[in-house]
Amino acid sequence: MIYLDNAATTLPKPSGVLEAIENALAECGNAGRSGHQAAMKSAEVLYHCRDMIGRMFGQDNPEQVVFTLNTTHALNLVIKSVMREGGHCVISGYEHNSVVRPLHAMQRNGVTYSVVRTPLFDPGSFLEEFEKLIRPDTICAVCTHVSNVFGYIFPIEQIDKICAKHGVKLIVDAAQSAGCIPIDCKKFSSLAALCAPGHKGLYGPQGTGVLICGDEMKWYPMMEGGTGSNSLSLEQPDFLPDLLESGTQNVHGLAGLAAGVEYVLSCGEDEILRHEQELIGYAAKELAKIPRFRVFNGEPQAGVLAFVDEWLSAEEITDFLGEKGIAVRGGLHCAPLAHQTVGTSSGCVRISVSSFNTFGEIEAVCDVLKEL
Ligand code: PLP
Repeated sequence: MIYLDNAATTLPKPSGVLEAIENALAECGNAGRSGHQAAMKSAEVLYHCRDMIGRMFGQDNPEQVVFTLNTTHALNLVIKSVMREGGHCVISGYEHNSVVRPLHAMQRNGVTYSVVRTPLFDPGSFLEEFEKLIRPDTICAVCTHVSNVFGYIFPIEQIDKICAKHGVKLIVDAAQSAGCIPIDCKKFSSLAALCAPGHKGLYGPQGTGVLICGDEMKWYPMMEGGTGSNSLSLEQPDFLPDLLESGTQNVHGLAGLAAGVEYVLSCGEDEILRHEQELIGYAAKELAKIPRFRVFNGEPQAGVLAFVDEWLSAEEITDFLGEKGIAVRGGLHCAPLAHQTVGTSSGCVRISVSSFNTFGEIEAVCDVLKEL
């Protein structure tokens, strides 16, 4: 199989990730529930992962790194905390349903939101329109760092500056950037939180995600329960990470995630991005030779490339490639808003690469598409 669906989840995972999970399965008890050797080992694994993630994203306090099931879970936690009392929110026209659906559901709590609908690969017009949509009742903004459909990299540093100027909290969805674009939370002035998956560019297993909490935020849990701390109290602990982490943690998965982060650091995020951009640039150039194809390529773009065919639907092309052993994703990519913004509402075919993909693989896929 040639796997080009890394924006959904990376595959393969580095061998160190598999080993770390296997070791954790053999050695780990339940962290924070006891002081015996197996429980202590588990607590060490959790602390190590928290610390690695904190270092990677410039959060010096590991307690402000909260483990979640995935990006969606992290986004729900922060959106539902910040927008709890209602108010207005500004989002990009490229948001995933993990942003749009919680906001839509919160309309019954008095939440309203405006969408910045600007063209692909045009950060200047995005920033201009974004600022225009901020109102006196705007509480927060949510922006994907990289569009999961088109690979368009958003100017989050400038977005942060605009948010800081207007006293608006910024939520960054780093689902497609974590692990390939360096992010330093210390450089942000308005950050409510950064939400990232463990299972994509950080090369960890599925069922892992992180919420990197900004400073001076008021948090509300989505569930209460055992934390191994303040057990006599009926109230959920009011400190992080316990406030937001009830129940047994996915220590096996998080052992794998720490190993994934080590892998990314050993390659270098800049190097991973450079490799992915080269592969995508090459694919874009080759696919543009097929006259029926419209290829969405521009600057700045990460390792995600979408295209449409004049005749065949995205699903037909995806199925055709699947029969040839090539894994891509066709359709709406859980981001119908992005397709509406660009005008591809019947969907696209998406190629997404990781550090493991090669030029040979991209060449083979382009050859198959040319044959089609
Ligand atoms: N946001 C973006 C931009 C995504 O691409 C995805 C998943 O593809 C998500 C959020 C949701 O991520 P998860 O599957 O980790 O919940």
